Amino acid sequence: MSEDYYELLEVSRGATAEEIKRAYRRRARELHPDANPGDADAESRFKQVAQAYETLSDPARRQHYDQFGADGPGQGPGFGGGGLGDLFDAFFGGGNPFGGDGGRSGPPRGEDLEVVLDLSFEEAVFGTQAPVTVRTALGCDECEATGAAPGTHAERCGECGGSGQVRRVRQSLLGQMVTAGPCPRCSGAGTTIETPCPTCRGEGRIVEEQTYTVDVPAGIDSGSTLRLTGRGAIGPRGGAIGDLYVHLRVRAHDRFVRHGYDLAHELHVSFGQAALGTVIPFETLDGAEDLVVPRGTQAGRVFRLRGRGVPHVEGRGRGDLLVQVVVDTPTDLTEEQDALLRQFAEQRGDEVAPADSGLMAKIRSAFK
Ligand code: ZN
Repeated sequence: MSEDYYELLEVSRGATAEEIKRAYRRRARELHPDANPGDADAESRFKQVAQAYETLSDPARRQHYDQFGADGPGQGPGFGGGGLGDLFDAFFGGGNPFGGDGGRSGPPRGEDLEVVLDLSFEEAVFGTQAPVTVRTALGCDECEATGAAPGTHAERCGECGGSGQVRRVRQSLLGQMVTAGPCPRCSGAGTTIETPCPTCRGEGRIVEEQTYTVDVPAGIDSGSTLRLTGRGAIGPRGGAIGDLYVHLRVRAHDRFVRHGYDLAHELHVSFGQAALGTVIPFETLDGAEDLVVPRGTQAGRVFRLRGRGVPHVEGRGRGDLLVQVVVDTPTDLTEEQDALLRQFAEQRGDEVAPADSGLMAKIRSAFK
């Protein structure tokens, strides 16, 4: 689905949570299948609007959407679920008719957040400390995350008696259903606030950008995810703090290809160097080394430089650096080199194409 969620809800990108909720209720009423019987277009819009609201009503998912769009990277932990439950939450002000939250009480846990961290090849191999910035929710200082104005207290909720849960009986297509869900008055917190804190409007938390330092262990590879426990958003009214998931994306190296903990490299040598042997200064990730290519080295031969690969993420030791020899055949012979090579071939008894330029041209054109 490529529709912009903000456009679907007809709100600006800076809309507050309250504005989004109001807009959603209005749009859902307009597009509700009961109000548009038989209108397939309205029904599909209704579903899209519900999906938009599901994402934009959750601070962590909204941040993810703002950053990556609807088709962003991995819908990570904490980003599933919701669905119809949230839909009904918006209509009936709390209480999931499908009985999702049974048994939970007290302020809800904060959202898990996720962020992508780009690393250079070397940073991933040797480890690093890197900053990541996320939009998160922090406890409000003014009310010490209680949500109650300074000098006042949260009161035990009269509706649920402080348990945060209510049972209700509903008529449904399937008959009478008894469900337990979060109390609609206190949203499961078990307490209500008479005088909300003016700074956080009773939420007990404030949305802010925050920068954390991520310890990236040596040997980590692209596609790995690190979890920073307790670096997610704080829950409303002093609820538990979620986690921060850091997805790692490692840039490719211009000379080395990674295979697990081993590194691979293709080393180009000339025909003469392969036949007679040579020493080549070679830049490994650990610095320059002299690589000895012995006399008579065949094309395709692999030299294994032990311990010059990637450190194991857990435990000790490192992989190897595998250097594969590629013998380059000369294609730009001067007349003199051509003559020398002919002499060489003749001595070896090798049949080669005659120097006749007419035939050479024919051979060349045959392979074009
Ligand atoms: Zn506050």
